[in-house]
Amino acid sequence: MVLAGPVQGPPTPTPVDVLAYRIALDLNVDASSLEAAAEITLIASEAVYDGIFFDFIGLEVDSLTVDDADAAYSRDAGRLKVDTGRRSAGDTVVVAIYYRGTPTDGLIFRPSLRGQPAVFADNWPNRARRWFPGIDHPSDKATVEFRVRTPRAWQVVANGLLVSEEIEEDGRKLTVWATDVPIPVYTMVVGASELSVREIGTFGCDEGSDRCVRISQWVYPEDEEQALRLFRRAPEMVAFYDSLIGPFAYEKLALVQSSTRFGGMENSSTIFFSEALSRGRAGDAVVAHEIAHQWFGDAVTAREWPHLWLSEGFATYFAAVFFEFREGDYAAAERLASAEQRYLFSGSAVWSPVIDLGQSDPSGLLNANSYQKGAWLLHMLRRMVGDEAFFEGVRSYYAEYMNQTALSEDFERIMAEVSGEDLAWFFEQWLEKPGFPVVQVQPYWNEGSKTLVLRVHQAQRWPPFSFPLEFEAVGEGYRIESTFWVDSRDSRIEWSLPGEPEGLKVDPHNELLGPTSVVG
Ligand SMILES: [Zn+2]
Repeated sequence: MVLAGPVQGPPTPTPVDVLAYRIALDLNVDASSLEAAAEITLIASEAVYDGIFFDFIGLEVDSLTVDDADAAYSRDAGRLKVDTGRRSAGDTVVVAIYYRGTPTDGLIFRPSLRGQPAVFADNWPNRARRWFPGIDHPSDKATVEFRVRTPRAWQVVANGLLVSEEIEEDGRKLTVWATDVPIPVYTMVVGASELSVREIGTFGCDEGSDRCVRISQWVYPEDEEQALRLFRRAPEMVAFYDSLIGPFAYEKLALVQSSTRFGGMENSSTIFFSEALSRGRAGDAVVAHEIAHQWFGDAVTAREWPHLWLSEGFATYFAAVFFEFREGDYAAAERLASAEQRYLFSGSAVWSPVIDLGQSDPSGLLNANSYQKGAWLLHMLRRMVGDEAFFEGVRSYYAEYMNQTALSEDFERIMAEVSGEDLAWFFEQWLEKPGFPVVQVQPYWNEGSKTLVLRVHQAQRWPPFSFPLEFEAVGEGYRIESTFWVDSRDSRIEWSLPGEPEGLKVDPHNELLGPTSVVG
């Protein structure tokens, strides 16, 4: 997603694997409350001795069944314990929970800026537990079906495909959406209001194609024209990532104007954008970032929160890659330069590694490490192994982990296999250690040997980094670029040149994260 807000709560490991959620919500908009039923189908991944814990906060449980029989339960501050009796590993269990109340968060009953009543979910990272019970952790993806009752004039959007829409006897509307593929709980959402719905493009719907993805916008009627401008390149972006990385994982893509606290939130197949729709260049950047997330974050999900860069770093980088391929190298260079500045001047983030095991609050990971430094890791990796190996590795990683979860070491292993290089030092340096190199170069021309001697000093307060460093020398009748390896606090490079250079540039194409300078 883009932009952050406060959230709390540690991850919740459990010995079960949820396969499917079926969630029925009857929304009482006037009272900001709901009556609901959640049917959770799960497999015990280890033996269960007496019960299963779900994350669930605040709402009142009316009754509960396990495999269709009434069952006992108990609650503490953040969890619902369901008495299942003894279960063997591999057993399937269906738990149905009937509940009601006013969610304190997660499902937000709040009118639009113009006063239009509306209900939008906003789960990241662990607020889903405030409106439905489940295993609220990214390691446990599942399919989801939402059955939502609303006033009859409302539109309801959710993950997956629209199954049905009907007016019931009491005059209220029932809308059903369901996914075919497992998605992370933090992206399981519904959005409901009097929205204007428009198809803005399709992807793969040619005759003879075995799939057809419809791309639509769901916005307040007054904002329809602005949304058409904001989302105009979305179909092109979906086609681009599909061909560069691998197949789009979902049944449709809805772009939704919502009340999310984030600038955009990459809910699987149902992206929520902040109600004040961004405009112009910033708007294009948000749309590309959230669409890239459908591949990275959604289809391939970081299994543990400290690996969040697999989601945010990838979305940040692949947004820049879209503009690079469409508009030219400068478009990516500009975005990477600004990402570098964001990281270098991010304050305390530079003192923590990207994989920050000391950070127990996922929202504390919404920083320049997960986003900008993660993006730069991919940029530096691509420059080091070359475009061919880099994109082949990304495609293999996506193919292997699509609709599953992954850790940084999974990506590292595949990149090492594809490039044929040992990359352990690279990933350790950029993911597990804090900081960045500060490079100072002192040149000296030796006329006798026609050699430019470069003394390279790493002036940062962190230990020395290893990296390839490119130089550009310009002299009479020549302009030469050459790359040298730097791997200690002080290095000495000897570079044979046709004559004394008049100009020297360090890292001329900005391929190293960190400032460089030539000192006298
Ligand atoms: Zn993001």
